[in-house]
Amino acid sequence: MRDRMPQTFLEVQFENWNARRLSSHAADHGLRGARIGWRSHRGLAVTTLSIKNLGVKVGEQQILHGVNLNVSSGQVHAVMGPNGSGKSTLANVIMGKPGYQVTSGSITLDAQDLLSAPTWVRAQAGLFLAMQYPTEVPGVSLRETLELALQARGLENIDTGSRLVEEAGRIGLSTQLLDRAVNVDLSGGEKKRNETAQLAVLNPQIAVLDELDSGLDIDALRACAERIEQLTGAGLGVLCITHYHRLLDYLPADQVHILIDGHIVESGGPELAQELESDGYARFLPSDGESDGVEVAIGGLGASNQAPRPDADDPFSDPLA
Ligand code: ADP
Ligand code: MG
Repeated sequence: MRDRMPQTFLEVQFENWNARRLSSHAADHGLRGARIGWRSHRGLAVTTLSIKNLGVKVGEQQILHGVNLNVSSGQVHAVMGPNGSGKSTLANVIMGKPGYQVTSGSITLDAQDLLSAPTWVRAQAGLFLAMQYPTEVPGVSLRETLELALQARGLENIDTGSRLVEEAGRIGLSTQLLDRAVNVDLSGGEKKRNETAQLAVLNPQIAVLDELDSGLDIDALRACAERIEQLTGAGLGVLCITHYHRLLDYLPADQVHILIDGHIVESGGPELAQELESDGYARFLPSDGESDGVEVAIGGLGASNQAPRPDADDPFSDPLA
């Protein structure tokens, strides 16, 4: 298990993470070596996904209110929150899903502004989103998709087929499923393993995982999370959205952020996730009358809350809908 970071070090992290400062302080602060060794020993550049004062509306409803978050290479940040608190909205806006109106703030990957970039540019820049509900894409094989994605990044020399088979083997995904069209006729758990295999082959700089654990049985969860944990040792930064501590048992978080009603109400070390596991969100929920109107419970969506019809230009939409 990752050592808990002391408060002084967490404060350093809230400011833009500085690689030199990190490598010189790491040993003193009990950070586990795997995630930082690649930087300090190989001198590789650090990439930072920086979200500043992000406000997002859907229709008339303000979903996110001034969210701030920095995720750098080799770090794992967990975002936890009740249903309807805006976690998927955050993930989708980072990746550029249409249908959201950004009302304030910025999202950048190092110096590059992402908000003005289409999804494919964000992917080429090094972002990856493992979707909460992966989309089925009939007629398009996973292998071709990944080959084209790698080619677009100038990595045409990679043997995608062999890499895919290798990664599928690591997480127990049957290689027979690799010949199917993307996500078609896969079970929920197979889709999540499939997302993990794609992530490992594409080798992005920063991955956003939207409830990777939903639908996975415990063995698959462990295999996927451990594979991603290995990738963080090679420099992957992770924004991990989850409800449950168990994912973090295998993919330990450096920081945990609690998102309620579209506000990050608390950030801290892994102990925050432990607290949620035992006590739930009660301490963080607004008292009656203070809510911003976002549903903070499992419940039906009002008519005005229905997701908009899929749009032909939406790379996230179900092509058969
Ligand atoms: P979480 O992932 O934390 O469960 P979401 O980001 O999916 O939360 O949703 C946050 C709030 O925004 C919910 O009230 C949800 O109904 C609303 N919402 C999200 N996406 C849409 C959309 N496309 N259209 C209408 N309302 C939406
Ligand atoms: Mg969600």
